[in-house]
Amino acid sequence: MSAYGLLIDYEWCTGCHTCEVACQIEHALPTDQWGIKIMNVGPWEYAPKKWQYAYLPVPTDQCDLCKNRVEKSHTPTCVKHCQAKCLKYGKVEKLAEELAKKPKQTLFSL
Ligand code: SF4
Ligand code: SF4
Repeated sequence: MSAYGLLIDYEWCTGCHTCEVACQIEHALPTDQWGIKIMNVGPWEYAPKKWQYAYLPVPTDQCDLCKNRVEKSHTPTCVKHCQAKCLKYGKVEKLAEELAKKPKQTLFSL
């Protein structure tokens, strides 16, 4: 397992798709393939006035954690372009510490 990964704070994801496009451009992917894909979870009402509605960014098998950028000391392009600062790159151990601090996050590693 890689020692590095992405921490995804999906509570603040607006579903803007900027990360998807940035990743496609960086990796010269066709428009029907993604290194990260935004999934819609909901909407549905599970209790009176309580709604499940979230966007969840999901890295795919084509995510290489921006190996070429990271080797040049740049952050992954999805991290750089997310205006909502939902994405964080780093060592899995450090990200796991952040994961423990708040709900509605997921941790991805290769
Ligand atoms: S760029 Fe950020 S806010 Fe926009 S869809 Fe991606 S993770 Fe969500
Ligand atoms: S880390 Fe790089 S390859 Fe992985 S989803 Fe983000 S932009 Fe795409």
